[in-house]
Amino acid sequence: MTSDLILEIRDLDFAYDGGSPALEGVNLSLRQGESAGIIGPNGGGKSTLLKLILGMLVPQKGIIRVFGRSPEDARQLIGYMPQYHQLDGAFPILVREVVLQGTLHRNVWGRVPAEDRRAAAAALEEMGIADLAERSFSELSGGQRQRVLIARALACHPRLLLLDEPTANVDPGAEEQFYSTLNCLRRSMSILTVSHDLGFVSREIDRVICVNKHVSIHEGGTFDQAAADRIYRHGMHLVEHNHACFCNCGGEGAK
Ligand code: ADP
Ligand code: MG
Repeated sequence: MTSDLILEIRDLDFAYDGGSPALEGVNLSLRQGESAGIIGPNGGGKSTLLKLILGMLVPQKGIIRVFGRSPEDARQLIGYMPQYHQLDGAFPILVREVVLQGTLHRNVWGRVPAEDRRAAAAALEEMGIADLAERSFSELSGGQRQRVLIARALACHPRLLLLDEPTANVDPGAEEQFYSTLNCLRRSMSILTVSHDLGFVSREIDRVICVNKHVSIHEGGTFDQAAADRIYRHGMHLVEHNHACFCNCGGEGAK
């Protein structure tokens, strides 16, 4: 493996419980400093791919290296925001507790080091939602929840951020804000984000990874509607975006 690869997947096959393959013959690599958008139809295997990179699932065949390590060994370098519907919004938990969960893999239950509390507070600050810390997660809007869950993913100081349909349950205003936040974050880490917004992935992101059991990779700038139509059977539309920066990174919006 070349040292500047943050992710390398070779000849990967994966099926759930002996069923038909969810992913087949996957080859994929991402270099230092690159970010990618993952697109594809429902059931195409996007979430499965992220879970394999995280080591939550193990392939039947093939190799996955993350920062030159096995997914399990690289786990603490990866921040993860799962697909929205996998989380129970009604669970009574405070925002700061949700964010602290992002550091828990380092701790024994019941002992939260001051360092982790500081990391959680800093992540809330970075997402511009420090004022929500003592609120109940279940009271928040879709856009606020999204920012809390990204703060949780950032609390472990990841070098790779995996976001699974992060804009699925947020209103258009919050979506714009999210894209500008992403543009700020990708200056300091690589981001893999599942998105149905082809305009965003084609223009703002270095690579477009199309997942429909098989995986194909396109350079961001060359990905167009015709390429999208080949991936999706049904029509998808490119969406225009013009970003300003809302996050606390001190920079301007889109690259
Ligand atoms: P996507 O995120 O692109 O919508 P998924 O990765 O969730 O797709 O699913 C890929 C395929 O794997 C689908 O056929 C789905 O039904 C199947 N699948 C997903 N999760 C499981 C699971 N836990 N057990 C069995 N099959 C699953
Ligand atoms: Mg999914």
